[in-house]
Amino acid sequence: MAGVVANYQYRISAATEPDAVRSSNPCKNMDTTYSKAVALAVPVFLALIALEFIVDRVKRTRYYHLADGINSLSCGVVSTGVRVFFGFLGIFFYEWVVLHWAPFQLPAKHWGTWVFAFVFYDLCYYWQHRWGHTVGLFWASHVVHHQSEEFNLTTALRQPGTGAFLNWIFYLPMALCGIPVSVMLLVGVIQLFYQFWPHTQLIGRLGFLDRWIQTPSNHRVHHAQNDIYLDKNYVGVFLIWDRLFGSYQEERDEEPCIYGIRGQLNSWNPVWANLHYYVAMAKDSWHAGSWSDKVRVWFAPPGWRPADVAARFPKRPYDPRVDFVKFDPPRNVALSAYGLVQFVALIAANSQFLALLPKQAAALNVAYFLFILGSLVCLGGVLENRREFLIAEAARLTATALLVLAAGAWFGGVRDPRVVVPVVAFQAVSLGWLWLAARAGARQQTAVAAA
Ligand SMILES: [Zn+2]
Ligand SMILES: [Zn+2]
Repeated sequence: MAGVVANYQYRISAATEPDAVRSSNPCKNMDTTYSKAVALAVPVFLALIALEFIVDRVKRTRYYHLADGINSLSCGVVSTGVRVFFGFLGIFFYEWVVLHWAPFQLPAKHWGTWVFAFVFYDLCYYWQHRWGHTVGLFWASHVVHHQSEEFNLTTALRQPGTGAFLNWIFYLPMALCGIPVSVMLLVGVIQLFYQFWPHTQLIGRLGFLDRWIQTPSNHRVHHAQNDIYLDKNYVGVFLIWDRLFGSYQEERDEEPCIYGIRGQLNSWNPVWANLHYYVAMAKDSWHAGSWSDKVRVWFAPPGWRPADVAARFPKRPYDPRVDFVKFDPPRNVALSAYGLVQFVALIAANSQFLALLPKQAAALNVAYFLFILGSLVCLGGVLENRREFLIAEAARLTATALLVLAAGAWFGGVRDPRVVVPVVAFQAVSLGWLWLAARAGARQQTAVAAA
């Protein structure tokens, strides 16, 4: 891990090298494309989410659910962090193929290269996305994007944390055609960010646009678990791929979308969200009698189970129109407000984490990411109103305050009391707030039980 991060740190430091040094290896300074783009785009995304939320409340459409939104954005934070540390994997192999296997290299300065690369990237994305729905191993990663049982702009940022490990395989054909890594990375970011706006229910049908590009109507279908909508509309931008490969489905008025996955997550824990399907496959693989089934579990379509395992551990038949119940554990307003305030603080911390990446030692970058990750896990448990996570959250606040006091500094080497004192005070106030909210919750539960 340390070696990986050190390598990343070395590569990220290239962004600050003089042009003359960088130009000797033009690939070195491109692996920060994603984190820089995210840092720039996040304020815009959050502003649009706030706007959609306000319209939602004014129109009383109720497309937003606090804990679901926080969980989706938490998954986005986890995804960005993991990609920051492991994104170099795909870049390394892509560069290697361009340098060793591509018969020629296309010029990054020619506009035609960019147009070709964008269309090619969109095609590769189609197949990455389609395999993400039809092969268990890839679904285990992509499932994160589909777990939300709501559908709004926060769902767009609900990205898988494990995508950086394997998804790059699907873009190697671009490397074989000599498309420079810098072009591939930038068109990838543009294509990804385009997919933000279709995640809304506030925009209806868009006429001819719905037949040519990805729009909210097309993408609502993709996120629905209804039988006729399942595994449809995989495209990122150009709808032609779905039409060409037979996966297009139009949204129907008589079939309202039911969002979410059939094997419900039933959790607000962003780490479990990234692991639960791998764990389910590992269990089936472990219990399977034959070696071929043990392997097949990982490559068969999602939901496929070995016959002996299905007989021993049967699952109930599931019809979303009858059996689907949204996950929504009860909690009081004080705990909801606590969750929102803590999440806003963690988003601010994550922005600082991204800004500090090129300036801080690798170990501190890892420590800061693990702090944010652990905090998001605790927060998810708090929103589920689970006692063990309320205790863990209290421990997190106390430990954070004590460590900051002992070090006399916050991440980034800030030793200014004007920073340290508010950080410690925030933990202390949060601890008091958590205690009051938990006590009020316990009293409500007792009153309900007595009634
Ligand atoms: Zn999908
Ligand atoms: Zn989506």
